[in-house]
Amino acid sequence: MTKASDFFSRDYADARKRFTEAAKAAGFTPERFMNSKAKGPRSEELSTDVVRIGPKNAENVIFVTSGTHGVEGFCGSGPQVGWLATGVYKEAPKNTAIVLIHAINPHGFAHERRVNEDNVDLNRNFRDHGTPPPHNTAYAEIHNLLIPADWDGQARKKADEDIAKYIAVRGERTFQAAVSTGSGNMPTGSFMVAKARSGRIRPGAGSSASTPPARAASCSSISTPGSAPMAIAK
Ligand SMILES: [Zn+2]
Repeated sequence: MTKASDFFSRDYADARKRFTEAAKAAGFTPERFMNSKAKGPRSEELSTDVVRIGPKNAENVIFVTSGTHGVEGFCGSGPQVGWLATGVYKEAPKNTAIVLIHAINPHGFAHERRVNEDNVDLNRNFRDHGTPPPHNTAYAEIHNLLIPADWDGQARKKADEDIAKYIAVRGERTFQAAVSTGSGNMPTGSFMVAKARSGRIRPGAGSSASTPPARAASCSSISTPGSAPMAIAK
């Protein structure tokens, strides 16, 4: 008997293989959208793969994406593969199409990071790009604590102490809100909203190559000094 865990993958490349193979086995032709700007940790090619199921003129379309926050791609990919492998998609109502978008942020998925290759948090990037990006005052106040001048030395130690003080005075919820709202328009900030649709921002502006991995790189948990890892917002 098939177990749900059979549909989950070890890494991005494994997930992509499972997704495309399950799609082909079910009679679909996945469409591949290459990410020409980045590679995976083993220099593997990165792509977003899409399968469209159902009538072309469907009245309703269900979009199911995975990996908007790259590191969460593991949990999103599993159900997408499972839907294809077990035929769950056949249970969609009449006049309903399904679009499975696998690894919308393949760089983040492959590198197990929340953000994409531009240090952009895609889940903060769905906005009106005709308006200026928000400045997050609460984030700016703690930016240097989240991303200290060094990662292992004195600056890190001081930053950890200051985070502990901040939380002691203002509470974990305030800290969590300041972190997870996103760094607005700060290109080296964590959870950057970005100045433009990601993929169009200028090379070098917040490129992950020059940006230290944000302390809060994973969406699912964040470690804070003196406290158990706490969940932060989606
Ligand atoms: Zn998330």
